[in-house]
Amino acid sequence: MAEPAIYAPPAFAPPPQVTADGRANLVGLSREALGREIAALGEKPFRAKQLWHWIYHRGVTDFEAMTTLGHGLRAKLAEGYVIARPAVSRALDSADGTRKWLLEMVDGREVESVHIPEDDRGTLCVSSQVGCTLTCRFCHTGTQALVRNLAACEIVGQVMVARDALGEWPSPSGERLVSNIVVMGMGEPLYNYENVAGALTIVMDPEGIAISRRRITLSTAGVAPMIRRAGAELGVNLAVSLHAVTDELRSRLMPLNKKYPIAELMAACRDYPTVANARRITFEYVMLKGVNDSPADARALVRLLAGIPAKVNLIPFNPWPGAAFECSTGAAIKAFAGIVNAAGYSAPVRAPRGQDIMAACGQLKSESKRARKTRHGEERAEAG
Ligand code: SAH
Repeated sequence: MAEPAIYAPPAFAPPPQVTADGRANLVGLSREALGREIAALGEKPFRAKQLWHWIYHRGVTDFEAMTTLGHGLRAKLAEGYVIARPAVSRALDSADGTRKWLLEMVDGREVESVHIPEDDRGTLCVSSQVGCTLTCRFCHTGTQALVRNLAACEIVGQVMVARDALGEWPSPSGERLVSNIVVMGMGEPLYNYENVAGALTIVMDPEGIAISRRRITLSTAGVAPMIRRAGAELGVNLAVSLHAVTDELRSRLMPLNKKYPIAELMAACRDYPTVANARRITFEYVMLKGVNDSPADARALVRLLAGIPAKVNLIPFNPWPGAAFECSTGAAIKAFAGIVNAAGYSAPVRAPRGQDIMAACGQLKSESKRARKTRHGEERAEAG
């Protein structure tokens, strides 16, 4: 049998997003789908617009609070629907202000999202899958066997949970605590494209959560054909987890590279639509001691980036229990950054945030089994 053009390992589909008594979650429906529900209730289309405003601009979860809707419609909605987010099973606060939420979905599966406050903005890192099928050797999430895709509502729901917790409703027009979104949590977003795209379309809608595509970054391990599709349909910022400059090493660190080798990945990046208007692609590069951090690696990286408006994000390796790598020395990172900088690329070193709560890059992992065990014991982060 011919291989499908886009290889994606099986990940289970999300379960139906309904309550025990059969009411459907309205969160995650596109505007069109919401319009169809409203039409089915015999209501005029502008009611869908009002409902959208209550859900995504005001953050209201109770139909009774939707005062622009008549009592009859509110009652009908409450009968058949809910406006639900994932349940927060734990919230952890780091000494540096980073906050991590462990969220429980309708089927008991869990994912994590992380809020990283900075001086002039706040970034929410959202997950796209329960676990991940990629098995990148340096990533804790990759050791988690259990995988299913998240539904669109479970992805939008992460943003809504953060806004609930930070008290950020209605959508502020000025400064925001959740001003930016990075799809860099658990999972490979381009292996769950439909749901991620659906969720981001809702998040970007100007009459709701209204976070612009310029403030959203999708990070991929390099699913080249889907990079093209995301570029054409979403136009968000792209981050690519590169991490190595030869196919030999990259395939060892990231098995996905065997499917989409570096040349193919870089070609997809060159074609990414934002590149045409000089919006830079971020290349993430995890610093692994003695593995990928030599000056020769840095020079090869610069050659790979030629012709692409790019910036390099150097990520000090974040350890996790049982990891087979160490973080590069400060001197090696500095030398590496120096070479990349000298070639004209900005190469900031990503400050690890939330390490004390295992919230840093590559540390997210929810083990449902272990979480259930510890729930009866002391509250603690996943660390060892
Ligand atoms: N699957 C997507 C998004 C999730 S990973 C992707 O691969 O891009 C988000 C980033 O954290 C990626 O660049 C990933 O390679 C990096 N990362 C994973 N484990 C890490 C670790 N232990 N230390 C530092 N960065 C890590």
